[in-house]
Amino acid sequence: MKTKLSKFLLLIIWFITACDDDVAPKFVLPADTDLSDAFYVHINLNDRSDDTFKVEMYVDGLSKDNEILQFAATVPGTYDISNVGRFIKNLQAFDESGNEINVTAVAVNQWKIADPSSTFKIIYEVAETFDTEVLEFPIYAMAGTSIENDHVLLNTPMVIGYPTGLKERDYFVSLAYPDSWSLGTALPEYEEDVFWASDFDHLADSPILLGNLSSTYVEVGGADISIHVYSAGEFITGSHVLADVNQILLDAEAFLKVLPTDQYAFLYHFGDRHEGALEHSKSSVYVLRDREYTQNFGNGIKSISAHEFFHIVTPLNIHSEIIADFNFAVPTPSQHLWLYEGVTEWASDFMQYRNGSMDLTSLLNELGTKVQIDSRFDSNFSLQQIGSEVYTIDGGGQFGNIYNRGAFVISLLDI
Ligand SMILES: [Zn+2]
Repeated sequence: MKTKLSKFLLLIIWFITACDDDVAPKFVLPADTDLSDAFYVHINLNDRSDDTFKVEMYVDGLSKDNEILQFAATVPGTYDISNVGRFIKNLQAFDESGNEINVTAVAVNQWKIADPSSTFKIIYEVAETFDTEVLEFPIYAMAGTSIENDHVLLNTPMVIGYPTGLKERDYFVSLAYPDSWSLGTALPEYEEDVFWASDFDHLADSPILLGNLSSTYVEVGGADISIHVYSAGEFITGSHVLADVNQILLDAEAFLKVLPTDQYAFLYHFGDRHEGALEHSKSSVYVLRDREYTQNFGNGIKSISAHEFFHIVTPLNIHSEIIADFNFAVPTPSQHLWLYEGVTEWASDFMQYRNGSMDLTSLLNELGTKVQIDSRFDSNFSLQQIGSEVYTIDGGGQFGNIYNRGAFVISLLDI
């Protein structure tokens, strides 16, 4: 009896000591998890040391055909090289008993697992893109990652990969993060802090913003809209943005006759960078400089948010087959880039004008900037050629002209 009691006391002392160590409890895969047709990914955002994401990926039923763990070479909407493998560190694989399985890096974005059929758990760290210097192919901030003490921007394909041939499996993503934080994403929540995606494309299409956020919710045209704001200096709240975003949603509804989605999350990261925005099917990410929310700044928010929201139409619904089955492993250009960016840019102005929220002078000023000669661009590059060559140095250098000439061409077609 006495011995047992001592052991019990020792256990309590060990437990208190362990807790005192400020180390988060080790993650244990829920016992009822079915891995036969799904991957389970756990990311511990309580441990933000070294500015890296600590990832555990649980897999089952891999075969020789799936021995390559693939990270994205490019992601939708950026028309740029990502090479996510550059940010991956300390990748290890284990079987269910915890024995290590040999893993070899075979290409910049690929790791080969020696014994895929026994593999149960893959662990690795991912450096954030915001604070990682790269010599070539810099990552667009709005497609990138940030991990700091007061927030995390998690663009999922910059952190999570897929075993080759199994891009269609479901993903469950479990997130551990500080109690005081909140979270914004368009991903459905499967259970508390566990999110579900129907396949890798759905996952990659669904960024997550976490931290000390100011969030606002509204229903427009039957769609549930959420606005999540991270403002480093706490200048900007969800309510500030809502006033302007609400108007562009009304403009879009009037222009399209119906909103093209039943749910949408606007994710705004206001910090020390002013870089732009990136579209997704049910959300968009904005990385803009934090500042006082003036009317002028609000007009800019309207314009950029209108553009990203209209991307639901082009390219997220109207697109070539190249976009439909996106090739994350091999960058594949689409000559319809002018349709995706030009039409979107045109619509973002004309939907505001036609609904009376932009006056004719402002519209003509917008169009005027698009027809000016811009010395950065070569007028001999056709719009189709920019699309086809966007992943090359020369074609990529002409990309910005899509927003000018692409939008102007569709304006002329409209007239
Ligand atoms: Zn765009």
